[in-house]
Amino acid sequence: MKYELPKLNYTFNALEPSFDALTMEIHYGKHHQAYINKLNEALKDYPVEQNKSLEELLVSLDSVPEKIRLAVKNNGGGHFNHSFFWRVLAPTSGQVKGELARAINKKYGDFNSFKELFTQAAATFFGSGWVWLVVNNNELEIISLPNQDCPISQNQQPILAIDLWEHAYYLKYQNRRAEYIEAWWRVINWDEAEKNYKNI
Ligand code: MN
Repeated sequence: MKYELPKLNYTFNALEPSFDALTMEIHYGKHHQAYINKLNEALKDYPVEQNKSLEELLVSLDSVPEKIRLAVKNNGGGHFNHSFFWRVLAPTSGQVKGELARAINKKYGDFNSFKELFTQAAATFFGSGWVWLVVNNNELEIISLPNQDCPISQNQQPILAIDLWEHAYYLKYQNRRAEYIEAWWRVINWDEAEKNYKNI
C-alpha cells in the first residue's frame, strides 16, 4: 500500500484571497506529492516499515533502519505535516470556540495574546520550517520546528500549524511573510483545531 495525497475538502481557489489558487495547486500537487513520492521510494525495500502507519514511523524514528531514517523523517514528516495543514484550513475561518478557546484563554490570558505570541514566533522563525500549537505534557505550547520535523516525533500533539517554507507563500507574498501569516489567521479551520484538541 503506497502513500497517496489525501483528498482536500475544498478547491484550490476556495481560500482566495488569503491563499491563492496557484500556490495551493503547486503546494499540494507538487510539493506535497514530492514528499509522498520520496517516502514511497524510501520504503520500497522495507516491508516491515511499509506495514507501520505513518504515525508509528514518525513516533519511533529510532526503530526505523538507519539507512532510510532521514528520508522517512524528512519525507514522512513532509507528508504528515502537509496532510495536517490542509485539514486545519477552511474557506470560512470563524472563531476559536469551545474547549480549545477555554484552554487558550487559560494559558495565554486571552485570544489576542495568544495570536500575538504565535504570530511573533512565525514572523521571527529563521529558515524553512513550521510553527505549531501543540499539547505538551497536557499544556498548550507554541513551538517552532525546522524542516519537516514533526511534533509527534517528540511526543507532542499538534493542534494547529503554519507552514513557513517559502513555497507556501512566495508566489503571492514574495518576501512579505508577515502578510502571509496575517492571511493564514483568516483561513483557520477552528472546528478541526478543536477536534484535534479534544481527541488527545
Ligand atoms: Mn509546504
